[in-house]
Formats: sequence, C-alpha cells, structure tokens
Amino acid sequence: MATKRSASAFSEPRRSTANAGAASVSGPKLGNGQPLFVPMSAEEMHALGWDSLDVLFVTGDAYVDHPSFGSVLLARWLIHHGYRAGIVAQPRWENPEDLLVMGKPRLFAGVSAGALDSLLAHYTAFRKKRHDDAYTPGGKAGARPNRACLVYANLARRAFPGLPLVLGGIEGSLRRVSHYDFWTDSLRKPILMDAKADLLIWGMGERATLECAQRLDAGEDLRGIPGTAWLDKLEQTPEGPRPANLPESMAQAPCMPLPSHDEILADPVQLLTMTQELERQVHRLDAWAFQPVGDRALVLARPAPPLTTQEMDALYEIPFTRRPHPSYREAIPAAEMMRTSITSHRGCGGGCSFCSLALHQGRRISSRSESSVLEEARRLGQENMDRGKGPVAISDVGGPTANMWQGYCALDKATAERGSFEEAADALPRERGENNAAHAPADAPAKSRCRRASCCYPTVCKFFTTPQNKHVSLLRKVAALPEVKQARVASGVRADLALRDAAALAAYTGEFTGGQLKVAPEHCATGVLSLMRKPPLEVFEAFLASFVRQSKAAGREQYVVPYLMSGFPGCTDDDMRTLSSWLRQRNWNPRQTQCFIPTPGTIATAMFYCGKNEAGEDIYVARTDAQRLRQHGLLMPGRSAGDEDGNRPRRRDGQDHTRKDAGRGEGRDAGRNAARGAARDTDRDAGKPRQRTPGNRDSRDARRGRDADQSRRPAERPGQKPGKQGGRSNENRQDSRKLPAPGRRA
Ligand code: SF4
Ligand code: SF4
Repeated sequence: MATKRSASAFSEPRRSTANAGAASVSGPKLGNGQPLFVPMSAEEMHALGWDSLDVLFVTGDAYVDHPSFGSVLLARWLIHHGYRAGIVAQPRWENPEDLLVMGKPRLFAGVSAGALDSLLAHYTAFRKKRHDDAYTPGGKAGARPNRACLVYANLARRAFPGLPLVLGGIEGSLRRVSHYDFWTDSLRKPILMDAKADLLIWGMGERATLECAQRLDAGEDLRGIPGTAWLDKLEQTPEGPRPANLPESMAQAPCMPLPSHDEILADPVQLLTMTQELERQVHRLDAWAFQPVGDRALVLARPAPPLTTQEMDALYEIPFTRRPHPSYREAIPAAEMMRTSITSHRGCGGGCSFCSLALHQGRRISSRSESSVLEEARRLGQENMDRGKGPVAISDVGGPTANMWQGYCALDKATAERGSFEEAADALPRERGENNAAHAPADAPAKSRCRRASCCYPTVCKFFTTPQNKHVSLLRKVAALPEVKQARVASGVRADLALRDAAALAAYTGEFTGGQLKVAPEHCATGVLSLMRKPPLEVFEAFLASFVRQSKAAGREQYVVPYLMSGFPGCTDDDMRTLSSWLRQRNWNPRQTQCFIPTPGTIATAMFYCGKNEAGEDIYVARTDAQRLRQHGLLMPGRSAGDEDGNRPRRRDGQDHTRKDAGRGEGRDAGRNAARGAARDTDRDAGKPRQRTPGNRDSRDARRGRDADQSRRPAERPGQKPGKQGGRSNENRQDSRKLPAPGRRA
C-alpha cells in the first residue's frame, strides 16, 4: 500500500523510497525522481516499484511526454511531489475496461477532454466533421468522443464507484458556468450538472491539483480550493440566494453573484454580463463567485494565483522526454510540432474578446527565468547532438504572445510592495505625474482592482510593462549556445507592443523571423476591431511599414502573415468587403483566415448569443451557416473559399514565393461545405462508441498484453496531414482558430 504523503504547495518534493531501482519503459528514472515515462499499464507501474496509483489521469489526447499536454504536466507535477500518478490516454468508451488497467487509484481520478474542447476538435466552423486530429497517433480523428469530459467522467464513475472524481482541462474550464454551445445552438448548464463529478479544476491546474491530492491524503474536504468549482444546495437568505454550505475560509471573502441559468435563458444579454463578471473575477484574484442553477448553486472559489518565476522554473525543470509514449506505432503530429519549441511564459494581457485565455490563463503573465529557458535550449540541443543530428534549430521561444515575456502590471507590483491596492493606485500615478482615473473609475467599489478588460485595448495601459529588450537578449543568448543552430519567434508578436520598442522590433524582424512573422490584425474595419478589443488598423499599418523597412535594412526577403477573421459578431458583409478591398490594395491573397467559432466562455461568444455589443447595443450577427459562408467567401473573391490556407504575398511577377507551411485555414472546409450545402454533421454524440484506429488500438492492446487482432476494427477514416503551425505548443489555450490549434498568436 502506498503510504500517506503530505507536502505543502510548491514545497520541496518528497520522494517515495519504494520507487528506487525501477526499470522498463517507465525507467530507469531520470532526474528529480521522475520515471522516463508516466506509467500507462500495470507492467510499467510495477516496474517503478508501485503496487498502485495515488491519482489516475484520463485524457482525450495521446500521451506525449511534453509539458504542453496538461494531464502529463500534472501527472509529473504530482510525481515531483511524491505522489504516484498514472495516465490512461484516449480510452475506449463503450465500457470502463481501459480505465482499470492499473487498478483503482488511492486518492482520485482526474478527467480531461485533452488540449481542446472535444467539439472544437471534431467540427469545423461550419459544423463539418474534421478528419484529422493532431493529438492522436497517425493524426486520425475518432480517438475521443464528443463531450469527452462527460463520457470519461461516466466511465470513471463506473470503473471506480465511490472514488472522488475531478474534472479539468480546457473543456471543463470553459464550460464551468452556463455556456452557449454552438454545435447544438443551445444554452447548456454548467458541466458539473451533467458530469456529476465531485470537483472541477478551472484555469491552470498545478496548485489546485496538488492541493486536491494533499487534502484527500489528509482526509479533508475538497471545497474551497482556489481555482476549483463544485455544486452546493442553494438556500434563500434575507440578502438573496446563497450556497448553503460555504467553507469558513470563504464566508468573509468578497463574493460575486452571477446571473442564474434561468435568468440567462430568459434574457440572453445576461450571458454577456456573466462573462464580463467572470473576467473580473479571474483578474481580481480575491473574490469567489456563484451561479444559481435551479435549486443548486455552482460555487467558484477564488482563482489560483499565477505561478511565480521560481515555480515556473521548478515546473519546467522536470525532465520531460518530449516524445510520444514508446507504445505508439504511428507518429503524433502535435508531438513533432512542439518538439523544438520552448515555452517562456503563460498568460496574456491582450484580453481579446474572442480568446479564451482571459478565463483560463488570465491576463497576468507567469514567466520563466532566463536561466531556465537557456537550460531547456541547451538540453534540447544536446539531445539532438547525441542523436547525431547536430545543433538544434529552436522553432520558437515564446508564449501566447511572444513579446510579453516577463511582462507585468506596475500597479500589481506596487500593490505587492505597498501592501494595498488602494495605496498603490493612489501613489504610483502621482509619482509618475499621471492621473489614474482609468484604473479606479468613480463607480468602482472602494476595494476594486483594475477594472479594464484588457491591458492593451483601447490603448496599451501605461502600467503594462513589457521588457521586450530582455526577450531579445534572451533570444540572442539562446541562439549563441553551441548546442543551438538558430532561434526563431514563431508565436505571434503583438504589434502595438512591438511598436513601442523600435530596437526590439528591429531584432525580431532582422534576427529571429524565419521568413514569415505572424501578426493578428484580424480585421481592418474599425467597428469590428473595437468589438474584438483589437487596436485600430493604423497600428498594424505602422507595424507593417516598420517591418518592411527593417527587413530591407537586414537584406532579407520576408513577410508578415496576417491572421484574419470573418463572421465575427458585429461584422457585416460590408465590413468584409472593406477587408477584401484592403487586401486587394496590398495585393494579398488571404491564407490565414478563420471563420469565427463561438467557443464556450468568451465575450465574443456571448455577443454572438445575445446579438448585443458590450455596451448593450444591437449588433448584426452572421448566424446561419449560409451567412457565415457568404462572409467567408467575400474575403476571397473569385476563388473557392476552400482553397485558402495561408496568406500568400506575391512578387511583382505574380508568383507565389512563400513557403507552404503556414497552416490550413477554415477556408478548406468552407469550400467543401459550400459545395455540399453546409449540411450540419452532428451524428457522433456523446457516449457513442468510437471506432478505434489501428495506431492507438495496437499500442493499447500491446500494453495490456492482448492479442491485438481480437479487437481489431477498421480504421475510421483516412488520416489527413495536418498543417504545420510554427511549432507553438497548446499550453491549455483554446480559441476559435483553425486546428491543429493552439498556435500562439497575438
Ligand atoms: S492597471 Fe493596466 S497593466 Fe495593470 S492590469 Fe490593469 S490594464 Fe493591465
Ligand atoms: S488573441 Fe493573442 S493577444 Fe489576444 S488575448 Fe489571445 S493570446 Fe492574447
């Protein structure tokens, strides 16, 4: 039996002596007491000297041992703290057999749909079934069910009756309150109402997952852990409805009541109100919230604080192999895309209205130290050299927005130093000779934190500090390592920030752009940009002029790859014509185009649902597939929408000279759907058994010691080679961009 372990969050890890001397696919151990791979079978678990697990993670992604895969990161994080964690990846869902391979875990089972919401992973912007899945062996779709969180939660309940069950990942996180579901065109209740799990971890899960294990280890209640949600009874009090059983620690803390599910059903604008409130709750860090749903209350504890640099370094010191589990026989496209990219930070101050980062990672930025990033680059290069391939080409050093590494809010810093937000908000602008009205609006309650929804919109906040010179210096140091051939920035660069530092922009352009630099103006129409919380077109134009100038000065022929979006709520056909003519003036054929997908949990989705902007005014919404296809078609006049897959600037000779690796846009699907009448394709419902693909079947059966032929089924559908995406990792980020998704962009 495993002994009870305890450790406070981010304390020194405790080691289990039982783990010594393990071998096989999970051993020998690497540094920090970590196995070579987290066990996926009883054989691998026993090879580590473990007779059982403490925590089992069930995930909808294949197991790639890379920190960009949330379940893998958390499993290794728990192992780092002395717990025994295992992974079941992409289990079959007709019965719970796959979940039982390592027996019942001692503390809890954690369930995640994977790096993306399962419906976003399965369907295009026009609700057409996708045929590829970058997170699955062979890149084939069909390895996870629709609404994977719910299906896996049911499986875990059947496999382990009575065991605490915890939901997590992007699907759980963004569906934590009532949400609009584009694929069924309906408002759905908080996911916990359907999943019947004990707890939901939202946002980045390191702190909450560890505290969960520690509390269960100590026999304590799970309610009240920062960054989690749970269901409670709703009771009527003189002050209004409240959760009946609040933990003592929350009773005196600030509370943000959210509109009830019924109120949103009756008045769709309430979804927008709730999403705005949730953005504030995530940002202010000290308040808990609740949403009445019938006679229940969905309670959201205050957010987990973002990781410090020291904590980020500790996380990334874990020796991930960055390879797929050796039992897989087919390549996993996402693994290759992420192999040579380095995550330097998480979080983004952009606050764009269509980006799920605001409710998941939040606007505060957690950065790694320079030495930690350099060490990872050195390790990557050394591994490459050990394989006889020479120094490595690092495809990316960045985060959601590359030029926000080590970014911070000066007001936050001053608050920490002075001990009170009010004092900092009062003193800092005075010291700078500025007026702080924008940050402490007259109608804000006395104890309010910053009430802006973005650190960059409508203008870059005077307190938003982004030391881009340090990022450039970091890139130069990475590139100068003997183990590194070159370093690039493939993740998005935020144009408005880059324009504030000419030297940094010159360096990004002249030294670290591999021919193409991704920037996301998204549109050119002023009204649409404002609804997106994006800077005006002039900012992008200025950036472009500078980019061209710097490229010439550096003697390099290179291009900006602008990301563009159609079908955004508030965007009319005329706006699309304006965009189209702007592109024609530049002689650009758009290739990185996306039709807006209303994914759960964003402001833009709430606007799509209620047909109002954030000020409560009516807006036009291209709602039907036909309207959305028309807008998408306007972006590419004279061409089939289905042909578009990147932005392809032309030389004067009219030839296309850009590389064809800028990824595929939704246009491909748009074209097919246009031809087929945009039929909806929703036949694969939650719970319907999937057809297994040979790649994952063979590896799983091999792990289980079975004859693979006994359970052979035909491959569901042919694989489709996914487009490359600049090597950005997913890092628990999801937006309505094309798949394989979570490319960094700004
Ligand atoms: S004060 Fe400015 S920098 Fe700080 S969180 Fe608010 S908007 Fe961002
Ligand atoms: S779209 Fe880019 S800049 Fe905007 S919030 Fe998301 S990551 Fe940040």
